[in-house]
Amino acid sequence: MVKGLVKGMGTTLKAFFREKSTIRYPEQKKPRSARFRGRHELRRYENGLEMCIGCELCQVACPANAITVIAAENDPQNPYSPGERYAAVYEIDMLRCIFCGLCEEACPTEALHLTQEFELADFSRENLIYGRDRLVNRHTSDFKVPENVYPPYEGRKGLDAS
Ligand code: SF4
Ligand code: SF4
Repeated sequence: MVKGLVKGMGTTLKAFFREKSTIRYPEQKKPRSARFRGRHELRRYENGLEMCIGCELCQVACPANAITVIAAENDPQNPYSPGERYAAVYEIDMLRCIFCGLCEEACPTEALHLTQEFELADFSRENLIYGRDRLVNRHTSDFKVPENVYPPYEGRKGLDAS
Protein backbone atom coordinates (compact mmCIF):
# COMPACT_ATOMS: atom_id res chain seq x y z
CA MET A 1 0.00 0.00 0.00
CA VAL A 2 2.87 2.38 0.91
CA LYS A 3 4.54 1.49 -2.37
CA GLY A 4 1.42 2.50 -4.30
CA LEU A 5 1.14 5.73 -2.35
CA VAL A 6 4.76 6.68 -3.09
CA LYS A 7 4.30 5.81 -6.75
CA GLY A 8 1.17 8.01 -6.91
CA MET A 9 2.92 10.91 -5.21
CA GLY A 10 5.83 10.53 -7.63
CA THR A 11 3.44 10.92 -10.56
CA THR A 12 1.93 14.01 -8.93
CA LEU A 13 5.35 15.55 -8.33
CA LYS A 14 6.45 14.85 -11.91
CA ALA A 15 3.33 16.63 -13.25
CA PHE A 16 3.88 19.49 -10.77
CA PHE A 17 7.26 20.45 -12.26
CA ARG A 18 6.35 19.79 -15.89
CA GLU A 19 5.72 22.80 -18.16
CA LYS A 20 2.01 23.67 -17.98
CA SER A 21 -0.10 23.23 -21.08
CA THR A 22 -2.66 25.75 -19.82
CA ILE A 23 -2.23 29.53 -20.01
CA ARG A 24 -3.72 32.47 -18.11
CA TYR A 25 -6.17 33.59 -20.79
CA PRO A 26 -7.17 36.38 -21.43
CA GLU A 27 -4.05 38.03 -19.96
CA GLN A 28 -1.89 35.58 -21.89
CA LYS A 29 -2.65 34.58 -25.46
CA LYS A 30 -1.23 31.78 -27.55
CA PRO A 31 0.44 32.88 -30.77
CA ARG A 32 -1.63 32.02 -33.81
CA SER A 33 -0.32 30.84 -37.15
CA ALA A 34 0.55 33.42 -39.80
CA ARG A 35 -2.33 32.12 -41.91
CA PHE A 36 -4.93 32.58 -39.15
CA ARG A 37 -8.02 34.42 -40.37
CA GLY A 38 -9.75 36.61 -37.79
CA ARG A 39 -11.51 39.97 -37.67
CA HIS A 40 -11.42 42.02 -40.87
CA GLU A 41 -9.85 45.43 -41.33
CA LEU A 42 -9.79 47.88 -44.24
CA ARG A 43 -6.31 49.28 -44.60
CA ARG A 44 -5.11 52.75 -45.53
CA TYR A 45 -2.22 53.90 -47.64
CA GLU A 46 0.69 55.65 -45.99
CA ASN A 47 -0.88 59.06 -46.86
CA GLY A 48 -4.14 58.24 -45.06
CA LEU A 49 -6.28 57.46 -48.11
CA GLU A 50 -8.38 54.31 -47.86
CA MET A 51 -7.20 51.43 -50.04
CA CYS A 52 -10.80 50.33 -50.62
CA ILE A 53 -12.24 51.69 -53.87
CA GLY A 54 -15.77 50.36 -53.36
CA CYS A 55 -15.56 47.90 -56.28
CA GLU A 56 -17.81 45.38 -54.47
CA LEU A 57 -15.74 42.36 -55.56
CA CYS A 58 -15.47 41.17 -51.96
CA GLN A 59 -19.25 41.27 -51.66
CA VAL A 60 -19.62 39.14 -54.80
CA ALA A 61 -16.97 36.66 -53.65
CA CYS A 62 -18.46 36.13 -50.20
CA PRO A 63 -20.20 32.72 -50.05
CA ALA A 64 -22.09 33.66 -46.89
CA ASN A 65 -23.55 36.96 -48.15
CA ALA A 66 -21.95 38.62 -45.14
CA ILE A 67 -20.62 41.75 -46.88
CA THR A 68 -22.57 44.82 -47.98
CA VAL A 69 -20.78 47.50 -49.99
CA ILE A 70 -22.45 50.62 -51.33
CA ALA A 71 -20.05 52.80 -53.28
CA ALA A 72 -20.20 56.55 -53.83
CA GLU A 73 -18.25 59.06 -55.93
CA ASN A 74 -15.24 60.66 -54.30
CA ASP A 75 -15.12 64.42 -53.84
CA PRO A 76 -11.96 65.32 -55.84
CA GLN A 77 -11.11 68.03 -53.28
CA ASN A 78 -11.35 65.70 -50.31
CA PRO A 79 -11.34 62.07 -51.48
CA TYR A 80 -11.57 59.03 -49.26
CA SER A 81 -9.70 56.78 -51.67
CA PRO A 82 -7.38 57.25 -54.67
CA GLY A 83 -10.04 55.94 -57.06
CA GLU A 84 -13.15 57.50 -58.52
CA ARG A 85 -15.26 55.80 -55.89
CA TYR A 86 -15.02 54.75 -52.27
CA ALA A 87 -17.12 52.51 -50.04
CA ALA A 88 -19.66 54.90 -48.53
CA VAL A 89 -21.27 51.92 -46.78
CA TYR A 90 -19.19 48.91 -45.84
CA GLU A 91 -20.67 46.33 -43.50
CA ILE A 92 -19.70 42.81 -42.51
CA ASP A 93 -22.16 40.64 -40.62
CA MET A 94 -19.85 38.70 -38.33
CA LEU A 95 -22.63 36.26 -37.47
CA ARG A 96 -22.74 35.13 -41.09
CA CYS A 97 -19.00 35.20 -41.73
CA ILE A 98 -17.25 31.83 -41.85
CA PHE A 99 -13.76 33.39 -42.04
CA CYS A 100 -12.98 31.65 -45.31
CA GLY A 101 -10.81 34.53 -46.56
CA LEU A 102 -12.34 34.64 -50.06
CA CYS A 103 -13.11 38.36 -49.69
CA GLU A 104 -9.45 39.06 -48.96
CA GLU A 105 -8.41 37.03 -52.00
CA ALA A 106 -10.87 38.89 -54.24
CA CYS A 107 -9.79 42.40 -53.25
CA PRO A 108 -7.81 43.98 -56.13
CA THR A 109 -6.20 46.68 -53.98
CA GLU A 110 -5.28 44.52 -50.96
CA ALA A 111 -7.46 46.80 -48.86
CA LEU A 112 -9.27 44.02 -47.05
CA HIS A 113 -7.22 42.06 -44.58
CA LEU A 114 -8.19 39.37 -42.10
CA THR A 115 -6.25 40.05 -38.91
CA GLN A 116 -5.18 37.78 -36.05
CA GLU A 117 -7.89 39.14 -33.75
CA PHE A 118 -10.43 36.52 -32.72
CA GLU A 119 -12.23 37.92 -29.67
CA LEU A 120 -15.49 38.93 -31.33
CA ALA A 121 -18.10 37.84 -28.79
CA ASP A 122 -20.85 40.35 -28.04
CA PHE A 123 -24.29 40.55 -26.49
CA SER A 124 -26.45 41.62 -29.42
CA ARG A 125 -26.83 40.84 -33.13
CA GLU A 126 -26.65 44.55 -33.99
CA ASN A 127 -23.21 44.88 -32.40
CA LEU A 128 -21.93 42.07 -34.58
CA ILE A 129 -22.61 43.92 -37.79
CA TYR A 130 -19.38 45.81 -38.26
CA GLY A 131 -19.51 49.08 -40.18
CA ARG A 132 -16.91 51.50 -41.47
CA ASP A 133 -16.33 52.88 -37.97
CA ARG A 134 -14.93 49.52 -36.86
CA LEU A 135 -13.50 48.22 -40.13
CA VAL A 136 -11.53 51.13 -41.57
CA ASN A 137 -8.20 51.16 -39.81
CA ARG A 138 -7.29 54.38 -38.04
CA HIS A 139 -3.62 53.77 -38.69
CA THR A 140 -1.82 54.12 -41.97
CA SER A 141 0.21 51.27 -43.44
CA ASP A 142 3.40 51.05 -45.48
CA PHE A 143 1.44 50.68 -48.72
CA LYS A 144 1.98 53.54 -51.17
CA VAL A 145 -0.67 54.78 -53.62
CA PRO A 146 0.26 53.26 -57.02
CA GLU A 147 1.80 55.91 -59.29
CA ASN A 148 -0.49 55.16 -62.22
CA VAL A 149 -3.61 56.02 -60.21
CA TYR A 150 -5.36 59.08 -61.59
CA PRO A 151 -5.87 61.75 -60.29
CA PRO A 152 -2.76 61.93 -58.07
CA TYR A 153 -4.41 62.82 -54.76
CA GLU A 154 -2.28 64.35 -52.05
CA GLY A 155 -3.73 62.42 -49.17
CA ARG A 156 -6.49 62.72 -46.64
CA LYS A 157 -6.30 64.99 -43.64
CA GLY A 158 -7.58 63.26 -40.53
CA LEU A 159 -8.33 59.56 -40.38
CA ASP A 160 -12.07 59.56 -39.88
CA ALA A 161 -14.00 56.48 -40.97
CA SER A 162 -17.35 58.18 -41.37
S1 SF4 B 1 -14.18 35.68 -44.69
FE1 SF4 B 1 -15.50 34.54 -46.16
S2 SF4 B 1 -17.51 34.51 -45.20
FE2 SF4 B 1 -16.33 36.08 -44.11
S3 SF4 B 1 -16.84 37.98 -45.14
FE3 SF4 B 1 -14.99 37.18 -46.16
S4 SF4 B 1 -15.73 35.94 -47.88
FE4 SF4 B 1 -17.48 36.31 -46.52
S1 SF4 C 1 -12.49 45.81 -49.88
FE1 SF4 C 1 -11.46 45.46 -51.84
S2 SF4 C 1 -12.86 44.11 -53.00
FE2 SF4 C 1 -14.05 45.03 -51.32
S3 SF4 C 1 -15.00 46.86 -52.19
FE3 SF4 C 1 -13.07 47.50 -51.24
S4 SF4 C 1 -11.56 47.42 -52.90
FE4 SF4 C 1 -13.33 46.24 -53.60
